[in-house]
Amino acid sequence: MEFVDGWVFGHTLGEGAYGEVKLVINKSTGEAVAMKMVDLVKHPDARQIVRKETAIHRMLSNPNIIQYFGKRSEPNMEYIFLEYASGGELFDRIEPDVGMPVWEAQKYFKQLISAVEYLHSRGVAHRDLKPENLLLDNNDNIKVTDFGLATIYKMQGKERCLDRRCGTLPYVAPEVLKRPYHAEPADVWSCGIILVALLAGELPWDQSSAEYPEYTAWREGKYLQFTPWKKLDNSSLSFIRKILVHLPSSRLTIREIKEHHWFLNNFSEGEGQIGNAAFKFNCTRLDYEASQVKFCLSQPELPREENLNSVNINLETREGISFSQPAHMEDLLISTQVQMLQQTQPSQQNPYQRLVRRMTRFFVTTDCESTVKRLVTCFESESYTYRICDFGIVTVSTVDRRKMPLVFKANIMEMDGKILVDFRLSKGCGLEFKRRFIKIKSKLDDIILKGPSTWPIAIATQTSS
Ligand code: ATP
Ligand code: MG
Repeated sequence: MEFVDGWVFGHTLGEGAYGEVKLVINKSTGEAVAMKMVDLVKHPDARQIVRKETAIHRMLSNPNIIQYFGKRSEPNMEYIFLEYASGGELFDRIEPDVGMPVWEAQKYFKQLISAVEYLHSRGVAHRDLKPENLLLDNNDNIKVTDFGLATIYKMQGKERCLDRRCGTLPYVAPEVLKRPYHAEPADVWSCGIILVALLAGELPWDQSSAEYPEYTAWREGKYLQFTPWKKLDNSSLSFIRKILVHLPSSRLTIREIKEHHWFLNNFSEGEGQIGNAAFKFNCTRLDYEASQVKFCLSQPELPREENLNSVNINLETREGISFSQPAHMEDLLISTQVQMLQQTQPSQQNPYQRLVRRMTRFFVTTDCESTVKRLVTCFESESYTYRICDFGIVTVSTVDRRKMPLVFKANIMEMDGKILVDFRLSKGCGLEFKRRFIKIKSKLDDIILKGPSTWPIAIATQTSS
């Protein structure tokens, strides 16, 4: 089925609160667009929310913000067309409980601050800044998205105080919980929490209020022996100290953040921070960086020496893919992750290769049925609630450390005789999802198809030839 003349559906990119986000591709030009679908039958109140979200999003144009293209309203469905971010979500680049090197965190943080500065210059407060809403483009640049909770707080220089308690709790500033609050410092607070997540791979507290001992300890300055703080280097810690300040009027402003020496410092690539000590990455990581494809330690292993360009997907068994869609197209889409590794410059990739580089997937040596069985055994041992749907999709529901719902899906698909298990977060915290993924992966270790341990080096060699 062609959705609009000349455009076909690609795969599902993610799940939002009101429906899926799908890739849509122009058959002749290969141009890719993300389409957010909002199911008005399931969510009758969503029409108003979409109206506000799109009214705000359409005003914005900035290199670090997802570009809004337009929307289409149908009686039962709203479709929002957005610039496609092919690099996936920022949380996927964060190694749970480890984080990332300071130079990399600084790069993302600078781009985030630049986007938020632009938003505030247009009088827009985002109000739901978190790594799940920070997407990445082909060149690994931040693209802020999800304006579902955004609002206009400033018009013709006149500011209004906000009163709506909203956001995602671990990222919400203390004054937002009390209300009313000023928009700018509240967004700055969320940026501070994001920086902690980037540097430490964990969130400092469930909520920034007195009932949470981690937050009280932070406020009282009795936190140094605790995680995540003990993982940070002194310069990052003192910077964060000035951002995560309880009193919004004493918090660094965007201008002050941009003038701070941490922000201006030239952290060298390969410089990292673990347990307060700077270290250099090993050569595997550096070789890998040289191939310009950034992966975390939880990266999937890929099978080696495959004829990766002739991947076969059984379209009839895959949900959401129209049968009239050329099989070739889907083959290209699925094999992207592999093709990415064969080329150095993102700019050299064809449009199909500008696809999500999802890290939460692996190949297995078992057939489809035994793979499902192993997954089920694993989910049972973790006391997860699960549901096996048709088309090889297992939906897992559980709660995270914070007792918040966590829902993710394992999609089992066949590629050229090999079985790929692809995990995707449906609801909840991205970091928690990744922690669970790593655990599942370790439990299935005996059936995971392993690449050579030195495969990043092999790839670097491959690309230089
Ligand atoms: P929630 O309220 O649960 O955050 P939402 O309904 O606001 O969801 P989004 O956050 O906009 O939905 O999108 C959900 C997911 O879909 C994103 O986290 C991302 O994985 C994917 N996604 C959304 N927009 C794009 C895009 N432009 N390019 C690529 N992927 C996207
Ligand atoms: Mg979102």
